[in-house]
Amino acid sequence: MSRLLLLSGGLDSACIAAWLRPELCLSINYGQRPATAERRAADAVARQLRIPIAHVTVDASAVGSGLLVSDQETAGRPTEWWPYRNQLLITLAAAWGIGRGTHEVMLGTVAGDGERHADGTPAFLESMAALLRVQEGRLTVSAPAQDLQTEELLLRSQIDDATLAWTHSCHRDNIPCGDCPGCRKRVATLTAAERLR
Ligand SMILES: [Zn+2]
Repeated sequence: MSRLLLLSGGLDSACIAAWLRPELCLSINYGQRPATAERRAADAVARQLRIPIAHVTVDASAVGSGLLVSDQETAGRPTEWWPYRNQLLITLAAAWGIGRGTHEVMLGTVAGDGERHADGTPAFLESMAALLRVQEGRLTVSAPAQDLQTEELLLRSQIDDATLAWTHSCHRDNIPCGDCPGCRKRVATLTAAERLR
């Protein structure tokens, strides 16, 4: 029985890894443009924290949208919106983990995610948990930081700077673009956390 953390290599999931020390992390290449950098970041974070990490590649770029697949506009939605992305990732993690002793899939949702995407809301998380519970394995889903802002999570986790430095936040590219919601949130979070220290 083990907890499996979806580790993208971004700030939120890296902090959860440092905070709660899951037995295993999973990095998924689902066809997102920054997949190479995310894998590099996730591997480095896991290595720093001495947590084992596994990798899955399932190219879902054909059903993606937003900055994670192209620079085309997503009319009326946040620029990084990808339909059903968390549903997809939780499903892949659960499907991968069910035969490997996983009883809980953890994800890095933080407070405020639900304002940008429906799949960051408590209602979504409760629904996914219920959906997994009625299936084989009765896995659970948890989002331990769903009530914390990223800067609060960062402080709570006590992640060290050497681990934090490896994280990758850009939605657009393997080299941070500096001008996407991921890059902007990273700067705002690190600045806010510095003030709170
Ligand atoms: Zn960026």
